[in-house]
Amino acid sequence: MLEVRAISTFYGHIHALKEVSLEVQAGEIVSLIGANGAGKTTLLNSISGIVPASQGQVLLDGQDITQLSAEAIVSVGISQVPELRQVFGTLSVHDNLILGAYLRLRRGEREAGNEDIEYVFGLFPILKERQNQMAGTLSGGEQQMLAMGRGLMARPKVLLMDEPSLGLAPILVQEIFRVTQQLQEANTTILLVEQNARAALEIADRGYVLETGNVVLSGTAQELITNKEVQQAYLGRAPGKNNRGANSHKASSKT
Ligand code: ATP
Repeated sequence: MLEVRAISTFYGHIHALKEVSLEVQAGEIVSLIGANGAGKTTLLNSISGIVPASQGQVLLDGQDITQLSAEAIVSVGISQVPELRQVFGTLSVHDNLILGAYLRLRRGEREAGNEDIEYVFGLFPILKERQNQMAGTLSGGEQQMLAMGRGLMARPKVLLMDEPSLGLAPILVQEIFRVTQQLQEANTTILLVEQNARAALEIADRGYVLETGNVVLSGTAQELITNKEVQQAYLGRAPGKNNRGANSHKASSKT
């Protein structure tokens, strides 16, 4: 569904992405892991047109979207849930969600906004309770839920999620990952960027490892979880020591 072909992205003379290629098939969760500064956010921003790539191509359903504006990329079906939530703090929860459906409302899909708000409230009941509250007064976890909900309001084919677990308590991290799996079950295709590599791989079908702007490794989530280099560098555990990879959530949820 989403294919990135050898994209390179620069910030001035900084070469942030070096011919990066990856693909996400329809219905997959693909996790992208890597250290600080590896280029993960840049890759999402290059896919969504926020920081256009200077070389290479991005294709959605085979259509080349590399030259489209960020707004047009949302219209064709890619929504990004940004790092650090970035909700509109002085607007209500409800209005933040409606803004997520802005392009669809502009196209005249007037009823869709309400239907989709109910869908988002079903995923995150706390947002329904807080719908009239100013978004800036929500807790970090609630803001993350709102940012995800806002991204879903565009009815994306592909949802790009940037570090959804950042700064959240473990119980909220679990909740965010649970909903991410639920979205997959509802046929949303997901590219997930995470420093919480273990949690991200446990819910993923496949994964990529990014190091200083290069994809250095890719494989099924199971292959990456059991890979010694990945374990040492990203999973914070010595190889072979109490490795739960083979019994991951993903493995059990698929059976
Ligand atoms: P993190 O996990 O810390 O968010 P990341 O993997 O998402 O890191 P990026 O934010 O994509 O990494 O940054 C990749 C490289 O590009 C880094 O060296 C960073 O300093 C540089 N970079 C990112 N944004 C800019 C910018 N606006 N101007 C200049 N350099 C930038």
